[in-house]
Amino acid sequence: NARTINKTVRTTCPYCGVGCGVLATPQADGTVAIAGDETHPANFGRLCSKGAALGETLSVEDRLLHPEIDGERADWDTALDRVAQEFSEAVRQHGPDSVAFYVSGQILTEDYYVANKLMKGFIGSGNIDTNSRLCMASSVAGHRRAFGSDTVPGTYEDLETCDLLVLTGSNLAWCHPVLFQRIEAAKAQNPQMRIVVIDPRETATCALADLHLALKPDTDVALFNGLLAFLAETDALDRAYVAAHTHGFDEALAASGPCEINRIARETGLAPRDLATFYTMVARTEKTVTVYSQGVNQSVTGTDKVNAIINTHLATGRIGRPGMGPFSVTGQPNAMGGREVGGLANTLAAHMSIENPDHRALVREFWQSPSIAEKSGLKAVDLFRAVRAGKIKALWIMATNPVDSLPDADGVADALKKCPFVVVSDVTRATDTAAYADVLLPAAAWGEKNGTVTNSERRISRQRAFLERPGEVRPDWWQVTEVARRMGFAQAFDYDGPASVFREHAALSGYGNNGLRAFDISALKHVSCAEFDRLNPLQWPQSQDRTQQEQTRFFAGGGFFTQDRKAVLVPVRTTEPRKQGRQYPFVLNTGRIRDQWHTMTRTGKSPRLSAHIAEPYAELHPVDAKKLGLSAADLVEVKSPFGTVMLRAQVTERAQPGSIFVPMHWTDQVSSQGRVDAVVAPETDPVSGQPGSKLTPVALRRL
Ligand code: SF4
Repeated sequence: NARTINKTVRTTCPYCGVGCGVLATPQADGTVAIAGDETHPANFGRLCSKGAALGETLSVEDRLLHPEIDGERADWDTALDRVAQEFSEAVRQHGPDSVAFYVSGQILTEDYYVANKLMKGFIGSGNIDTNSRLCMASSVAGHRRAFGSDTVPGTYEDLETCDLLVLTGSNLAWCHPVLFQRIEAAKAQNPQMRIVVIDPRETATCALADLHLALKPDTDVALFNGLLAFLAETDALDRAYVAAHTHGFDEALAASGPCEINRIARETGLAPRDLATFYTMVARTEKTVTVYSQGVNQSVTGTDKVNAIINTHLATGRIGRPGMGPFSVTGQPNAMGGREVGGLANTLAAHMSIENPDHRALVREFWQSPSIAEKSGLKAVDLFRAVRAGKIKALWIMATNPVDSLPDADGVADALKKCPFVVVSDVTRATDTAAYADVLLPAAAWGEKNGTVTNSERRISRQRAFLERPGEVRPDWWQVTEVARRMGFAQAFDYDGPASVFREHAALSGYGNNGLRAFDISALKHVSCAEFDRLNPLQWPQSQDRTQQEQTRFFAGGGFFTQDRKAVLVPVRTTEPRKQGRQYPFVLNTGRIRDQWHTMTRTGKSPRLSAHIAEPYAELHPVDAKKLGLSAADLVEVKSPFGTVMLRAQVTERAQPGSIFVPMHWTDQVSSQGRVDAVVAPETDPVSGQPGSKLTPVALRRL
């Protein structure tokens, strides 16, 4: 990686799933000038505050620059030998399911691919999960139930060209700011466009809302089931589409129950008039897009919520056409790339299914692997439970900080303490997770590595290096490959760079695929290194078949990825929201703020970003503040059965009585009191395994 002064490199932002194109220009004084890439179809030159401040996050003073074993500096060979030996020995003594990888939506697709290949195809276990489990696992599960594949049907353009945009469980203004800016501009151009925001909190996104539905937490299924029933009663269905392209409509409608506005209003806590207004808007507006994000996914009923939303689009045939469709926005830059390579413990490479014996045989044949995982591995929360129970003897954590970001974070710390062998690959040692590593491996950071990421609209973009790698840092794909070789799999891990990994990934997507799997980028399987380097952003599918290649949306005229090519309306039932009980009477909701990213290892370096909100806080309603004797800026203790956190009270009517909101970013590294995931309950959706991080019963106390 040669750093060339004043040479501008096109790359992709490493933060949210919008996937903005970035121009990075190293300067003579050692800084890097950052600008938005006007040619990138995700952002057309725009950047948000986080993207614009990327140049302020590239310092190396906190970087992990050399491998370490037991806190002592080591050379790469010794460290890699130790990792390979510990994993091989655990597999030999206790079997393949005694080891695990926990990876991240921050790593590149090529990193993800080799890690999955090693664990699922060569070690022979499904025990590789990712922090994307916390992000979009419910969307993946909902898509697969409805479409037979994990496929986002539409594009960002649909959000601009629709007449009605329903934003549910998404504070897009803070969490996907450039997409929000695009919508803002589209609404200014088209004043007829209507926006409905569905969120218990009044967030910054509500500034653009024609209607804000502040529903009770976790009542989305009741809301969308009611909508399905309303669409049926008002004859707003596309019965021809339903008959030709779907199954399960009658069952889904029966599960929804009758459209009783007053009952649904009681269940959701909404005013009957607002509910009727929303339902009527949807019924009358063909060009409707429903965008959903963590407020939907991070729930113990997340998958049902996703299907309740998709049901309304299938029932009206509003899918796969310009300005229509359900649309899941992902939190991380490469949450979608991870999905492509089977990055979840219950998926397989190239969007194949681990439960499907034909898929397993096909992937094994392609990889020429000695074995393949026969079943799904442990999903994130269960994985760390197994570590804590002593079932996992060797664990490799890459590019993520679970001691701060997983629910029951103290339980995760305890698990790592008990695990016989922990490897952590990261760019920094300044994480609460790194403290538990037996072996620390220094990873290349953004700006130092090459590969691809895929954003929320299936667009693959290049991340390119523009900085020299400091110290002895190495990219993640290289680290995994070197360990695989040392475990005896040299032939199958004979890569000489990310382009060779990408070619194999592209070839696998077309292998044995007769158009029966959504994900296909086989047209790229022969890209040369030079072509890979020049690769412009492109959306999948990219197959040899021109018809598919020209396709920008899926499912225009049906053609789902189920056996009979029909979609499924999944019957989902409204469930009672979790009872609070007297001991823990408040609902804790966690989420992002505008100017910080995850556990602040990068954004925390920028004074400009830290100036927006300087410390963790608990947002609560004045009625609750009064009951607790709290004034603005008082300190408040937030407690659950899992942990306690101390925060400053922010008293605001934007909160709903009975609920508090706490940002997820602060850690013991930056604040000894703000580590909110120590409080969050480790309860998960039974279908997707995604934690319900938006609803933990807690108690509050003035300090
Ligand atoms: Fe980066 Fe997301 Fe901001 Fe775009 S919107 S610059 S991808 S953080």
